[in-house]
Amino acid sequence: MRKVIGALTVLVLVTVASVITLWLARPRADVPEVMPTQAALLPDPTATPRSRAWEAVIQGELMVERTAPPPSPTPAPTHTPTPPLRWQHTPTPVRLRPERPTVPPPTAVSSPREPTVARYNDPRRGEFSPPPEQVPLSLDPRDHFWFRRPVDSSANSAALFSYAYGSDGPNGEWRIHHGIDLPNPIGKEVRASAAGRVIWAGDNYVWYENGRYVESAYSYGNVVIIEHNFGFQGKRLYTLYAHLQLILVYAGQDVQTGEIIGLSGRSGVVSGPHVHFEVRVGRNSYYETRNPLLWMAPYENHGVVAGRVTLPDGSLAQDVTVMLMKGGRVIDTTTTYVNPRQPNSRTWNVNSDEVWRENFVIGDVPVGVYQVVVLLNGRRLIRDVTVRPATTSFVDFTELEVMPLPTPSPTPAG
Ligand SMILES: [Zn+2]
Repeated sequence: MRKVIGALTVLVLVTVASVITLWLARPRADVPEVMPTQAALLPDPTATPRSRAWEAVIQGELMVERTAPPPSPTPAPTHTPTPPLRWQHTPTPVRLRPERPTVPPPTAVSSPREPTVARYNDPRRGEFSPPPEQVPLSLDPRDHFWFRRPVDSSANSAALFSYAYGSDGPNGEWRIHHGIDLPNPIGKEVRASAAGRVIWAGDNYVWYENGRYVESAYSYGNVVIIEHNFGFQGKRLYTLYAHLQLILVYAGQDVQTGEIIGLSGRSGVVSGPHVHFEVRVGRNSYYETRNPLLWMAPYENHGVVAGRVTLPDGSLAQDVTVMLMKGGRVIDTTTTYVNPRQPNSRTWNVNSDEVWRENFVIGDVPVGVYQVVVLLNGRRLIRDVTVRPATTSFVDFTELEVMPLPTPSPTPAG
């Protein structure tokens, strides 16, 4: 009997304990369901807010880009530059000059179409990225490699040689190029090529000098121009970075060599994302550019080939095909400058270097011995050239051309 009472007592206790446990575990309306807090939704707190900020801005840019209508090829000048996109700097953009254009702005015309830019955006080209030489660099006293590349070696820092400085494109359809193009995906860091002060940062570029209109260019998109704090032969030096997706500096800001000034993109009149890079000597003007390949330090164990092709009358031969060959293979091609400034020029587009007086340049050539082949008036002119590291090798096709061209004479029959 006592055993039965004991067993019943244990059963009652177990039942009571189970009921209490279930009661405590019942869903209760007064305790809210645990939801992830806003803090828990935030990404890794160790990541810098800076990186997320510009990623977000790029996302925004991409959204805008997908819905924006294509830019008009001949836009009317806009007299109200919008402030540059910034994430950090709060000063309002400096309006450098009153805006009263008195001369019509240059007309935006065609630039490389999608297939060309896409072809040169081949990422395999980007894998070839030995470190660039340090600047300033003048192993040969004639050289002035004073600017670093505006993009990192890990980015695609090869120039788009099919649209070389002074070229008008493969079929002569493009505007004569006043800079070089560095194909890069949207969002790569674009860096100041040397120290100086930002004199323009924004879109709808328009420039005044002493109150007088100089130029404007809608087609540059978001563009930064730096006036450098050193000169060349007593002249001021400027570099220009166009088609940026995002500008990270403001006009009036001092920047150091390599400082990030923006992110690569496809703003303005372009067919694909790239950095358009110009070097301007003496004056901030579209008509005072020089070939950036003579100013930008080459890669380690690479050099630059520059040359001059003249006609019998001594003028610079324009739009002539130049090939760099090795072992019978074409390594690179370019063309001589179209519409360069020369003694008989009333108007011009591009300029030869003060030192080299060239009318073609091929950059980033691995050291070695090459042949430079020029096709001129149906003749093949060939010169050997030895490319040495971190220097310019000059090839002169002048003397041959000063000699009169042979005139065909009838051969005696028989
Ligand atoms: Zn360009």
